[in-house]
Amino acid sequence: MARWPRRCARAGRSEMAAGTEGLGGGLGGGLGGGLARLIAHLRKEKAASERVLIAMAGTPREFFVPESFRDQAYVDAALPLTSGQTISQPWVVAAMTEALDVQPTHKVLEIGTGSGWQAAILAKLAGSVFSIERHPALSRTARAALDKLGLSNVKLRIGDGTEGWPEEAPFDRIMVTAAADKAPPPALLAELSPEGGVMLIPVKEGDEGEHLWRVTRNGKVISRTRLSAVRFVPLVAGLPKAK
Ligand code: SAH
Repeated sequence: MARWPRRCARAGRSEMAAGTEGLGGGLGGGLGGGLARLIAHLRKEKAASERVLIAMAGTPREFFVPESFRDQAYVDAALPLTSGQTISQPWVVAAMTEALDVQPTHKVLEIGTGSGWQAAILAKLAGSVFSIERHPALSRTARAALDKLGLSNVKLRIGDGTEGWPEEAPFDRIMVTAAADKAPPPALLAELSPEGGVMLIPVKEGDEGEHLWRVTRNGKVISRTRLSAVRFVPLVAGLPKAK
């Protein structure tokens, strides 16, 4: 498994260029070879297995970043989205996807659709993906990007992900891409499959800071492992107030 240095999932921190020279090609062209260089960089860093890297290579990040940051799509850094949110750093996405161990038979729940990039990568590896976002504008933009790539096995919902998606539960895998306070939301634990379900969730633990937890469920037994220090935007209950 990849090592887990402290790398921030928020914009503006821990930028590592993945060969940025020559960026700036048109859509669909991997921005002048930037996509290929990013994948090579993630491979060299041992961020994930070939299976995950192939899924990422087939899901160009330039489709998911805002127009004004498109020339930076293949830099290994988090980037700003609208609504004050961020698209995670590619290294973090690679390592989290690897750690979730998604299989083709799996039904996956993601909390925090954001740009839709992580959902798209999960959709390449899973049977079906269900992703919840509390900001309507982000969800709409994500839907458009997913449709452009023809990913029809992803369902999006605008809502409060801390309440889960009861109509579709249980889920074989759950990935939360925003940080919970102190513990995973109970509704998500309840929706994790009792037959070896796995959830990845960043959790803020007071003075201990924020760590990625892997939570597994077998029958009634729920156990957790703390994987690494991370930084994500906060998981916020409820919907944003209409402006
Ligand atoms: N997975 C995203 C990164 C998302 S950043 C990507 O690939 O781009 C985290 C996202 O979680 C933000 O868009 C934020 O609005 C969303 N979020 C925070 N709290 C939430 C909640 N309770 N329910 C649903 N989405 C939430």
